[in-house]
Amino acid sequence: MQTVTLNNGVKMPILGFGVFQVPPEETEQAVTDALAAGYRLLDTAALYHNEEAVGRAIKNSGIPREELFVTTKLWIQNAPAEENTKQAFDASLRKLGLDYVDLYLMHQPYGDVYGQWRAMESLHREGRAKAIGVSNFYPDRVLDLVLNNEITPAVNQIEAHPFFQRTADHKLLRERGIQLQSWGGFAEGKNNLFTDPLLSEIGRQHGKSVAQVVVRWFIQRDIGTIPKSVRPERMAENIDVFDFQLTDEQMASIAALDTGATLFFDHRDPQWVDRLGVLRMDA
Ligand code: NAP
Repeated sequence: MQTVTLNNGVKMPILGFGVFQVPPEETEQAVTDALAAGYRLLDTAALYHNEEAVGRAIKNSGIPREELFVTTKLWIQNAPAEENTKQAFDASLRKLGLDYVDLYLMHQPYGDVYGQWRAMESLHREGRAKAIGVSNFYPDRVLDLVLNNEITPAVNQIEAHPFFQRTADHKLLRERGIQLQSWGGFAEGKNNLFTDPLLSEIGRQHGKSVAQVVVRWFIQRDIGTIPKSVRPERMAENIDVFDFQLTDEQMASIAALDTGATLFFDHRDPQWVDRLGVLRMDA
């Protein structure tokens, strides 16, 4: 599997498997199938309530721990954030049945972000989070975090897909040594992504599906991606992208699909801050 080297030297597979919205009772099977299909990066979160099932699939796979790259995410913590972050991390590790994670992400840019980040820095120093990063941070928030803390996030996991390409954000993150990893890389099928005429035509030219074109497009932009599927045939399809290359013309034509706008929600929208920013896992 092709990897990207993060700003602390850790190597992360450029393509992984996400389990958002996979019900806990289906997650063990989905992860088992994904590992069998060749995925080695697994992306979960405390909020997904399926860390235990991910952990069971890892344990039963027999795959050596060092061959896997496991990401989980911290949900927004009440004060005292530093103490509660450590407890939340311990709970995630316990559920996963692991003694370290490869990447620990702050899931949302809300709450006592700096207190949470200081705790994450200390988890990283202890070696229990091999890399730490953020998610859903717009450039202004990332930059402020970078400028006012010791450790620069290794990754920012944000919405990115052909209709919201994040080109300027990608440039800024790169300049700061932060790896962009997309979530919702298929836009969860919104905007009829899987039947988009341009992506379909490019796929036809390579004998590949729209999904494969999209995954390939991310890889050629050095952006990590973590497509989700509960169907083994789609898992296999989405990882079968290392035997073709999009041309410069094709990359340029896909760039024209960018609308520059979210298809989900803007994390800076006060209505969403009001809804999501107060959500607590233990509420
Ligand atoms: P996504 O990967 O863009 O899309 C998943 C959808 O596409 C599912 O409905 C899946 O259906 C379908 N699909 C997958 N492969 C397909 C194929 N080859 N052909 C046709 N349909 C296909 O959406 P996502 O799950 O939201 O994002 C991916 C991962 O990013 C998540 O699982 C999660 O790990 C992460 N994420 C993070 C955040 C965050 O705030 N940090 C937010 C959202 C997601 P089936 O399952 O039925 O195949």
